[in-house]
Amino acid sequence: MKAEALPRCDNYIVCRHANCVRSICNQTLLWGGDGSWSPSYFLTTSWQVSPDVLKGCVDSQMEKWMIVSYKYRAYPGSVAETRLNTALDTCRWLYNKLLEECNEARACGTSLKNQETQARIVSLKDENPALKDVYSKVLQMVNYTLWSNITALSQSKKNGLKIGKLRFKSAFRYRTLNYNQSGFKIDREHNTISFSKIGAVRVRMHRPYIGKVKGILITRLGDKWYVTIQAEHEVSEPKICGRSVGLDVGLNSFVTDSDGRVIENPPRFYEHSLDRIKKLQQSVSRKKRFSKNWKKAKSRLNKAYEHIFNQKNDFLHKLSRQYVNTYAAVCVEHLDIKGLKEKGNHKGLHRSIHSVSWGKFFSYLSYKAESAGTKLVTVNPRNTSQMCSNCGKIVKKTLSVRVHECPDCGFVADRDYNAAVNIHRIGMEQPFEPVETMPLHHVSVMQVLSMKQEATPFRAW
Ligand SMILES: [Zn+2]
Repeated sequence: MKAEALPRCDNYIVCRHANCVRSICNQTLLWGGDGSWSPSYFLTTSWQVSPDVLKGCVDSQMEKWMIVSYKYRAYPGSVAETRLNTALDTCRWLYNKLLEECNEARACGTSLKNQETQARIVSLKDENPALKDVYSKVLQMVNYTLWSNITALSQSKKNGLKIGKLRFKSAFRYRTLNYNQSGFKIDREHNTISFSKIGAVRVRMHRPYIGKVKGILITRLGDKWYVTIQAEHEVSEPKICGRSVGLDVGLNSFVTDSDGRVIENPPRFYEHSLDRIKKLQQSVSRKKRFSKNWKKAKSRLNKAYEHIFNQKNDFLHKLSRQYVNTYAAVCVEHLDIKGLKEKGNHKGLHRSIHSVSWGKFFSYLSYKAESAGTKLVTVNPRNTSQMCSNCGKIVKKTLSVRVHECPDCGFVADRDYNAAVNIHRIGMEQPFEPVETMPLHHVSVMQVLSMKQEATPFRAW
């Protein structure tokens, strides 16, 4: 493979669990930046997708190779666990130290470069001998993470988002060791992975990974450990024939497609859990920091977050899998800032939860499409909801108007269905033709969740 093909793929690595989402989320620091998910941000930060990032994901369909990540539970023994915790702490120290030096340099009117901070790691080993106990490539990836955070931050500033400085990492926010390319050895027979300077760690490989392993991340989440294996795949040949579909994401329903399916919004179980989260948060804040009870309450809170996160991801994975398996081409709107504004009349939390889901849904679609040979087409969102899908006339309507009624041709349809048909037509570059009017078919969250993630496509849902 071409060497220069890597950086773009890099952005796309771990689409499922980290980077793709991360590089989008980094823009508002949804991710801890170390590849780990921090749910508190997820719930509180209003979030916007940068068009460039999304474009990058879609463009990378052109690459012949892609990297897919597989996440497994890990069970380090007590010795390995102590070493892992120490290594995390050392990496955190390094991250904060390098960030501090970058900040100091800026305060003095100069600036440091990526290569300079990387070279600094060597001299810091005298200052902090603990660095010698961490695999050198892992240290190098700390520098890499710092710089990708710095770049993401300055990119968001350029995009006009109001964002403060990069934060120093507390112990709770530094959770991932990144073994890139080397320093690990996988023993598939005994289900263990040996990490340099850490030792062997038992891993439950509940499903096999495919492809050449390019890197492994070890993450601490609450009191659990996970490893994420990043493996390289060859991208599937595009499907030559098959049906196509247009998807419209909205607030009233999660997705409406041009085949007349209306997928119910997932927040139903989500909002239900919010009450519980609120209670748990209060319980944490009432306790003395770092006390035994505080730790217990905190772990309960983390579990609740994890539960929501898993449920929601499960929904998004299954739904995107269905679309990718059923169709040869899927058309979606280019989910940019303007599009989000137009879509969202609800402010704050509600909106932000929706936009996070849409962004994730599209990135899941994107990488699943890539591995399945399905074409993902993004279209300009301009006028998709205002235009009559039957004749092309612009019929202005506010968000509260749920039905599209064309005064010119008399076409009447659900607002979102009309938009989905438009997205489909634009994406497939088709001329206007009479739109079939059919009753919309509602699909509930439970129906989506009961689908198998890797199942073969349905003929009809
Ligand atoms: Zn019309």
